[in-house]
Amino acid sequence: MNRLKEKIRREGIVQEGNILKVDSFLNHQIDPVLMMDMGREFAERFATAQVTKVLTIESSGIAIALTTALHLHVPLVFARKKRSELMKEEVFITHIYSFTKKETSEVSVLRRFIGPGERVLIIDDFLANGEAALGLADIVKQAGATVVGIGIVIEKAFQPGGQKIAEAGIRLESLAKIQSFQNGEVVFA
Ligand code: 5GP
Repeated sequence: MNRLKEKIRREGIVQEGNILKVDSFLNHQIDPVLMMDMGREFAERFATAQVTKVLTIESSGIAIALTTALHLHVPLVFARKKRSELMKEEVFITHIYSFTKKETSEVSVLRRFIGPGERVLIIDDFLANGEAALGLADIVKQAGATVVGIGIVIEKAFQPGGQKIAEAGIRLESLAKIQSFQNGEVVFA
């Protein structure tokens, strides 16, 4: 995805703690055209995986997961970090430590929305330590469903998430893979 890489080069800001800020197009303000292109790309990469549902976590994963689900013609489910009063039904729960917020959230999905036999594609904006992606995979497992793969917009390959996903035997597709940050600049793998 050259357009994504260009956008990261032009607008990404490398922050302390190995954090890349891309709030001008991905995490706060959203570029809808790029989001549609990236969703199409994930849908093409997983076209033969017989995906029945896309799963992400609120809030930054929702936009990219939505355009992916739109191109795959399947529903999108987003895991919630805070349980609402409306979620009185039974839920699947997992705990995810946030790389950026430095806190653990109890993340939940209504049992009604992921059933046994489903083929779930997990989508997220970033991959760092793999907490979010593997936490979502845990929810899919609790549901008796199958994770067909994980699609990530920006993978920081110098952090262990990719390795952990490989060890779990799950297919990983990243649209941009960052090898390192050097002097405030992004170096792609
Ligand atoms: P992980 O769970 O793999 O450790 O981290 C992934 C999650 O943390 C993503 O859902 C994303 O919200 C956040 N995250 C991790 N690294 C970055 C980063 O460099 N920049 C931004 N904006 N978010 C990140």
